[in-house]
Amino acid sequence: MTDLIWLNGEIIPMADARIGVEDRGFQFADGVYEVIRLYNSKPFTLNEHLARLHQSARGIGLSPPLSMEQLSREIHKLIAQSQAKEAMVYLQMTRGIAPRNHQFPDHPKPTLLFYTRPLPPVPPPGQASGVKLCAIPDERWKRCWIKSIALLPNILAKNHAISNGFDEAAFVEEGILSECSSSNLFAIVANTLVTAPAGPRVLPGITRAVLLDLASRAGLQVDERQLREQELQRADEVFITSTTREISWVSHYNQHSFASHCGPKTLKLHQALRARITDETAR
Ligand code: PMP
Repeated sequence: MTDLIWLNGEIIPMADARIGVEDRGFQFADGVYEVIRLYNSKPFTLNEHLARLHQSARGIGLSPPLSMEQLSREIHKLIAQSQAKEAMVYLQMTRGIAPRNHQFPDHPKPTLLFYTRPLPPVPPPGQASGVKLCAIPDERWKRCWIKSIALLPNILAKNHAISNGFDEAAFVEEGILSECSSSNLFAIVANTLVTAPAGPRVLPGITRAVLLDLASRAGLQVDERQLREQELQRADEVFITSTTREISWVSHYNQHSFASHCGPKTLKLHQALRARITDETAR
């Protein structure tokens, strides 16, 4: 795979890419991003990701320099030139270069870039080991629906989890679970799939939206509502989702153990997700 980057309208070798020191992304984390997964060189749910990018941009008062259609065309161009197959596209858009000032520049010139990186394949549904979740107080801002590049609380939470023998951090506030440091959280209680509503504390995950649709089709009730720690611990099955991990079944929440293997409903949902991916990316 050739190491290329699309930077402000040009495709150039990654090694030649330069971002100014005064870029507001670098100085203020004043920007938004997306991660899109490629299967056999085809982006999955690209339009949904681009719609969320525009929603995030609106959330920080930033006008994207390209329409969704133009961006989609440019992303396909980069994928073809990079020869990326099983990979992700990382896309970032910042408010661009301006003399350092908290106040927005009068005429911002956004920095827009994206590039691909190979990703290892996700193990077949049910075959990965379970994820151990560690509860962490939710100290993030209340606009988590914006996919902001300001990820320090998420990074600190994730590293706290890993250094304590866990895999992922689950954010909790007053006993209510929102999401994880880089994934959405779901519990299956009887025949109902429960997940917190997207909004102040929860990113509207693209995998989450696909899952909610698949769950309804698979005959599960879907309930987007607050999820309490006690309820999570009584759940039949727990899993997390993201673009890069698809679905991971959860084996532990702190010291509480759920199961020693992936539950049947989680397995069925993962198989349905795989079918959806194949259907969309084989076309
Ligand atoms: N929540 C957070 C905080 C995340 O960083 C991510 C991954 N970007 C997700 C949820 C999952 O979102 P998606 O399914 O769109 O990757």
